[in-house]
Amino acid sequence: MPELPEVETIARGLAARVTGDVIESVWVGGKPEPLKSPAREIVRTLTGARITGVRRVGKHIVFDLRRRPSVVGRRPSRRNAEEHAQWIVHLGMTGNLVVCAPGAELAKHTHAIARLGSGREIRFVDPRRFGRLAVHRDFRAPGSEPLDLGVEIFSKLFRRRKTPIKSALLNQKLLSGVGNIYADEALFRAAIRPRRRAASLTRNHLQRLYEALQQVLNEAIAAGGSSVSDYVDAAGAEGLFQFEHRVYQRTGEPCLVCRTPIKRVVLAGRSAHYCPKCQA
Ligand SMILES: [Zn+2]
Repeated sequence: MPELPEVETIARGLAARVTGDVIESVWVGGKPEPLKSPAREIVRTLTGARITGVRRVGKHIVFDLRRRPSVVGRRPSRRNAEEHAQWIVHLGMTGNLVVCAPGAELAKHTHAIARLGSGREIRFVDPRRFGRLAVHRDFRAPGSEPLDLGVEIFSKLFRRRKTPIKSALLNQKLLSGVGNIYADEALFRAAIRPRRRAASLTRNHLQRLYEALQQVLNEAIAAGGSSVSDYVDAAGAEGLFQFEHRVYQRTGEPCLVCRTPIKRVVLAGRSAHYCPKCQA
């Protein structure tokens, strides 16, 4: 599942390719699962809209749109004002957004196509159909943005939480966009065991965890994300951060610091990978 760095990479790639372009028409497929807003509402909002930017909010990709309002039912003074709208894409497990030429072969599991004024198309492809398409006006992620918050606010999120710190890091209502890979990697760098209760962490631990998480997310963004399973960015390129993983999916392999075999435990149905010697 793409996490914050992968979604950031995809959003940046899309921003560079389609900002300024106009969506001329939209096709939405017949499968109901990917549609969080009704198909006709997606088509109505996107058709004729200009893409003013593409950015990441949590694990969501947000296309900012400007469109001329429909004249019907509007007061004359509002007639020429452009309205703001947003196209929100959550990639789920296997979703991707590809920018391609109209003649490009249609991939199986294509659920939506936005045809652009430049002649290109943005296609939403998702074999497992956990991805979601929606339209909004003022979209906000439920949790805090990990790269925007300071250490004080970060620390407050975990106060009095009895859950393991790993589960707290994955809780999207607390932090937006951190998933299994980057939670494991940040905990390793901070020398904290995934199972440790969040509330038991000292100020010093939280400072270390905060710095480790910032570091690991920023390094992963710089590397274009991690390509595990089938992640590729908007141009079809793979990320490189999987080669920097120190514990994630390295069960049984030697710790890069102390040579102790990396362990795997299951916490709330998710695997956690850690070094039993380096992490306490
Ligand atoms: Zn170790």
